Amino acid sequence: MFKKKLGADWASLVTGLGLGLTVALQIETTTREDWASVYAILTSISRSFALIGTYLALVGLVLVARVPWIESSVGHDRLVTWHRKLGPYSLFLIGFHVLFVAIGYAGLEQIPTIIEIWRMVTRFPWMLPAFVGFIFMMAAGITSYKKARARMSYETWWTVHLYTYLAIALSFMHQVLTGPMFIGHPLNRFFWNVLYLAVAATLITWRFAIPVIRSLRLGLKVEQVIKEGPGVFSIIMKGRNVDSLGAQGGQFFGWRFLTKGHWFISHPYSLSAAPTKKYLRVTVKDLGDHSGSVTFIKPETRVFLEGPYGAFTAGRASKGHVTLIGGGVGITPIRAIMEEFPPNVEVDVIFRASKKEDLVLKEELDYLAEERGARVHYLIGPRSEHPMDAKYIMRIVPTFRDSDVYICGPTPLVDAVREAARNVGIPKNRFHDEAFAFHGE
Ligand SMILES: Cc1cc2nc3c(=O)[nH]c(=O)nc-3n(C[C@H](O)[C@H](O)[C@H](O)COP(=O)(O)OP(=O)(O)OC[C@H]3O[C@@H](n4cnc5c(N)ncnc54)[C@H](O)[C@@H]3O)c2cc1C
Repeated sequence: MFKKKLGADWASLVTGLGLGLTVALQIETTTREDWASVYAILTSISRSFALIGTYLALVGLVLVARVPWIESSVGHDRLVTWHRKLGPYSLFLIGFHVLFVAIGYAGLEQIPTIIEIWRMVTRFPWMLPAFVGFIFMMAAGITSYKKARARMSYETWWTVHLYTYLAIALSFMHQVLTGPMFIGHPLNRFFWNVLYLAVAATLITWRFAIPVIRSLRLGLKVEQVIKEGPGVFSIIMKGRNVDSLGAQGGQFFGWRFLTKGHWFISHPYSLSAAPTKKYLRVTVKDLGDHSGSVTFIKPETRVFLEGPYGAFTAGRASKGHVTLIGGGVGITPIRAIMEEFPPNVEVDVIFRASKKEDLVLKEELDYLAEERGARVHYLIGPRSEHPMDAKYIMRIVPTFRDSDVYICGPTPLVDAVREAARNVGIPKNRFHDEAFAFHGE
């Protein structure tokens, strides 16, 4: 735990240091002329906005670059949340940069702003690609707003979002060739080059090279697709030395099944059984185009994976008793993690479902419970019957207050249990949740 915290501390320190150096680029190269008129000041401010906005955009990319030690220190869903929160800041800063620099230059040259924009885009080196990049970035920003996003499919949003990588790359040359903080300042340019290269290398390594190499090495293929319940299917995959992934029950991977409709975008699914030397298994509920068509995936289909991700693991527990709560298909990581607590840890499992048919993997849960002397409590029916507040949970698991709580399920269930845990004084570091949507979605 200490090591993990240290990892996050180092990451924050390096990020803060980078931000300081980025601001210093502007401060160190500011001259008296930059303050000579309102338009000069506006232009100068616009450059600071560009530097900080770009730096934050690069940090945003690193947050979702799947760097293992950052992933295990912070947790994937929290990183995605930070990425989403940071996005608007860099978009606004870069947007204001474009606006201010155009108004500033137009004022200095006494011409209309729109003509100044045209002049800049057509005459300044690498300004056209940067402008195209700016449009891509804005498109990604606009489509990420909740209301806009709700109107489009995940695939469309994801494809538009992908263009931000191109946008950030396209803006690079105009920065170093036209930015006064870089012209005639080789050290500044060196820092900026290293920053861009480091981010590019991180992305290429962790988002592309490692997953591809790993997937090829494992030779993972679908062995069987099994129906577990209404609209719920397990996919069993077999490969070579699967245990070399070091995956743990409770973690998830991004999966691509190399068949029509499943190869382009990776979908996150948690392991629904602890991994073995040769096998991995996920259990998927039909909630849309991808999850609904896993039933058509044929045996022998090749599988590419990214991961393992997530900090929803047995090693996080600090108490001798754990309360594991799964809602609906959220039982899948609970089922997997159940196998991983040492025998001296007492385990209570609560499986919350609306209907009896939704109790997927029930036989396995009962078998595991018997094996290790755990208790499984099935709570079936509407919310009014199972309020999941502190009093109700304590009736089912009297030692709830003294346990580590693991929960995976729909947001209202997670929120109710979080509230219950807070009310009985369970500290945040003993509350472990995995959402089947990234936080804030
Ligand atoms: C960490 C994590 C673990 C998960 N584990 C499981 C599991 O074990 N079993 C299970 O049944 N479901 C799991 N899910 C949910 C599952 O990923 C989605 O239900 C599935 O991707 C929906 O895709 P779709 O095309 O079928 O549905 P759509 O109707 O296209 O999407 C429904 C919603 O799912 C989300 N989504 C869609 N595609 C993706 C994607 N590629 N990446 C991230 N989110 C996406 C979006 O919020 C979207 O609004 C998990 C989700 C997360 C974030």
